[in-house]
Amino acid sequence: MSDKDISQILDWFACSGVSDVMCVKNETPEERSEEITSLQQLRDVVARIDFPLKNCALNMVFGTGNEHADILLLGEAPGAEEDKQGIPFVGQSGQLLDKILASVGLDRTKVYITNILPWRPPGNRTPTNQEIEIFRPYVLKHISLVNPKIIVCLGGTATKALLQTTPGIMQLRGKIATIDGVDAKIIPTFHPAYLLRSPSQKREVWSDFLRIRQLIP
Ligand code: URA
Repeated sequence: MSDKDISQILDWFACSGVSDVMCVKNETPEERSEEITSLQQLRDVVARIDFPLKNCALNMVFGTGNEHADILLLGEAPGAEEDKQGIPFVGQSGQLLDKILASVGLDRTKVYITNILPWRPPGNRTPTNQEIEIFRPYVLKHISLVNPKIIVCLGGTATKALLQTTPGIMQLRGKIATIDGVDAKIIPTFHPAYLLRSPSQKREVWSDFLRIRQLIP
């Protein structure tokens, strides 16, 4: 709705004798960022926001793992199994992710895992640019509350959403990036779902995680 539309509606109310109008709108974490000081508070805020995907999902999938971890893994969005259980990466991709973590001496008690979106897009479609853009401030707040040293973007969608760059995952994989307002080093790698389809690429992901281990011994 444009400012002109709003002004016309307010004029109409004024002509009808209405003197006070209360406006209720979604608050973004940017607007009340300082008030949100814990993951539980952020979870409550996210649970209350008006987001169309919410109506199609069974559960909100917020995050899991060590809330003080040095390594944060950022996926795309929940799939069917994650939607059922309300926990990120518990389906087939998640099982592969656990194996990748184990191969470098990590597990879910040592990392934190979340997604670009906390609700499953219907039919597992890719999140739209609009959904990503609207939810991005919440993702940034989520990251700042965990305060990791390294963010591993799992796949092209998470990478593009966080870095807001044009090159794809094939060019960015394994290269350390940074963005304004986030202290952590960002390392894009392939999504486990891609590895299930292209197992020959597991070697690249393993080398990315070995590098991550060198950065965080
Ligand atoms: N794929 C993702 O990107 N995230 C999940 O939580 C599960 C599958």
